[in-house]
Amino acid sequence: MKKIKLITFDLDDTFWDIEPVIINAERSTRKFLENYIGKQEWGSLSDFLSFRRELIEIDPSLEWDIKGLRRAIYQNKILDSGYSEKDSIELVDKCYKFFLEKRHDVTFYDNVFESIKELSADYSLGVLTNGNADIFNFDIGKYFDFSISSYDVKSNKPDEGHFVAARNKYNNLRYDEIVHIGDHPINDVRGALDIGINAIWFNGMGKEWKEENIKEPLQFKDWSKITRLIKSNYE
Ligand SMILES: [Mg+2]
Repeated sequence: MKKIKLITFDLDDTFWDIEPVIINAERSTRKFLENYIGKQEWGSLSDFLSFRRELIEIDPSLEWDIKGLRRAIYQNKILDSGYSEKDSIELVDKCYKFFLEKRHDVTFYDNVFESIKELSADYSLGVLTNGNADIFNFDIGKYFDFSISSYDVKSNKPDEGHFVAARNKYNNLRYDEIVHIGDHPINDVRGALDIGINAIWFNGMGKEWKEENIKEPLQFKDWSKITRLIKSNYE
């Protein structure tokens, strides 16, 4: 039997539903910015995505630096409205701060808090996220030893950066003594399995497992079940 010492968690769509949060954060930040630079044409989602791709082509680090990406998007709007490069910085800072606050306005799924508290009694806990939420902004943060973002490791899951960094937080920790929990079949499940970390799929929507090349992993949809699932499979 494998003995688990560390459990790592994805955040977005694992602890909370991210889509409504981002939509709300994006909308309110646009309004906030328009107070300074007047009404803007923001275009469709596909305009936004192609603009994002253009920015990443110019500066590939924006692929994993979503803070930089978001700031670049706001700065472009601000410069277009006639601000000087120098004057734009302060407003970009304000916008990003405003966005980040809204981005943390999340509703945790039922039983996350209780389960994390329970797990923290027996395991070390950490966060591995491709996003820019900070678990330490929440009360629940006190149960976690660390949080690793894409910015920290200059790559996105499923690349190994987050997983290697997690193991390196401890002396002599082996990959098979870690379980990673996340909603994404590739970024979380395959990323973890590829390096020898155990993976549990948070399947809150009760979806079918569609990755033919990956054996269907342990999964759960209700956070109240996670402690039992881990204890019964790894101890
Ligand atoms: Mg996720």
